[in-house]
Amino acid sequence: VRLKGTEDIFGPQALCFDRIETSARAVFKIFGFEELRTPYLESKKLFTHALGTGTDVVQKEMYEFLDKSGEVVALRPEGTAGIVRAYLENNFHKTQPFCRFFYLGPMFRRERPQKGRLRQFHQIGAEILGGESPYSDAEAIHCLTALLDHLGISGYTVKLNMLGTMDERQAFKKTLLDYFKPQAAALCEDCQSRLEKNVYRVFDCKKEFCRAIVSRAPFLVPDAPLLPRELSARSHEHFDLVRKALEKNGISYRIEPTMVRGLDYYTRTVFEITHPRLGAQDALGAGGRYDKLVESLGGPATGAVGFAIGVERLLLCLEAPEDADKSFVNFFTIATIGEAAFHEGFRLLSELRTAGLAVAMDFQGKSMKSQMRLADKMRSRYAIILGDTELTRKIFVLKNMETGTQEELPLTEAVSELKKRTL
Ligand SMILES: [Zn+2]
Repeated sequence: VRLKGTEDIFGPQALCFDRIETSARAVFKIFGFEELRTPYLESKKLFTHALGTGTDVVQKEMYEFLDKSGEVVALRPEGTAGIVRAYLENNFHKTQPFCRFFYLGPMFRRERPQKGRLRQFHQIGAEILGGESPYSDAEAIHCLTALLDHLGISGYTVKLNMLGTMDERQAFKKTLLDYFKPQAAALCEDCQSRLEKNVYRVFDCKKEFCRAIVSRAPFLVPDAPLLPRELSARSHEHFDLVRKALEKNGISYRIEPTMVRGLDYYTRTVFEITHPRLGAQDALGAGGRYDKLVESLGGPATGAVGFAIGVERLLLCLEAPEDADKSFVNFFTIATIGEAAFHEGFRLLSELRTAGLAVAMDFQGKSMKSQMRLADKMRSRYAIILGDTELTRKIFVLKNMETGTQEELPLTEAVSELKKRTL
C-alpha cells in the first residue's frame, strides 16, 4: 500500500509532468541556468542550519532518521539548502562565483495531506548565487513568469514585498512586538507563541480575528513595503530598482506588505505568485533574496536570490491538461497475423525504431482484434497491419485509429511513408 501523501504518477499526469519539466528546461536554457542535481538525502544539520530551528518545516515536517553510522539524516524538504551546500562544497564560490542553477525533483515534508499538498511533492526551482544586484531579483521573477507563460498559464498575480536586511528586520521586530504584545490575549494560541518565537509569522495566520488585528496595524501602508521607516536608503533603493526592472520586463506586480514567507533565511526582496484556481492556499510559487545563507553555511558573504514552484500546484493551473491524454505514446502499433508476418513485423519494428519512429508491437500471438484493442489502449495514432496476403504483395495496411480509414503502402517505402505521417 502506498504511504499517505504519496502518489503514483502515470498516464495523462505523467505526460503533464513531462510537459512541465520540458518547458522548465527550455525556459532555464533561455535564461542561462545550469542544472544542479543534489542528493535527496542530506545531513539533518544542513536543514536546521539553513531553514532555522524555529520553522514549521524543521520542527514538525521533516523526514529524519538515524543512519546506521549514527548520523541523523533527512530527506530534503526544499531545494535551496542543498544547492548552497553544493555551491560551497564544489568550490563554485572560488572558481565561478556568479552562478545560475536550476533543479527539479521530489521534496519531502510530513504535512497533513490535502488537495495539492503531498508528503512527497515535486518542485522546480532556481538560484542565482554570487550577486546582490536588484536586477537578479527581477531576473528570478521574470524567469518564473516566463515559465508560467511558456506553459500557457494565465491569470496569476505576482506579489512583492521588501523585508529589509537582517538588521533592519531585527529593528522592526520591536515595532511589531510593541503593537502585538498589548493585544496578545486577542490573538490565537499559535500567534501568542509566535510573539516569542518569530513575530513575523503572525502575518501568516489565517484566523480571522488575528487577521483583523494585523489589518489594523498602523505601520501597514497600502502599496508600500512592510517596514517603510526601518528600511535603510540602500534597501529602499534596492526595492525601487527591482520594481523598475520588473516594469521594464513588462511584469505587473502588487506590493503585499504582510507577505513575509515561512522560512527564516529571506532578506530584502520576497515574492510570491498566486493563482485563483488554487483556492485559499493560493501560492503557486515563491522565492526571495537570501543574502546571509551562504555565510551561515560556512561560506563567504554572498548575495543570492531564488525561487521554487510546486509541480502539483502547476498541474492544477494548467489549461486543458486533458490534451496530454491525446498525445500519442506509441505513434504506430504493428499488428500481425501468422508466423511469417510476425517475423516481417518484427524486422519492420526494428527498422522503424532505428529510423526514430515511436512504434510498439505485441509479441504474445494475440488475435488481430485484441492487437487492435492494445493499439487503442496505447493511444496509437496508426496501426500497421501485416498478414500473409500483404506479405506476398510486399505491402502493409496502414489504419488511422482516429478515423478508421485504411490505405495500402509498399513495405520497401515503410520508413519514408510513415515519417510523413508524423509531421
Ligand atoms: Zn493567529
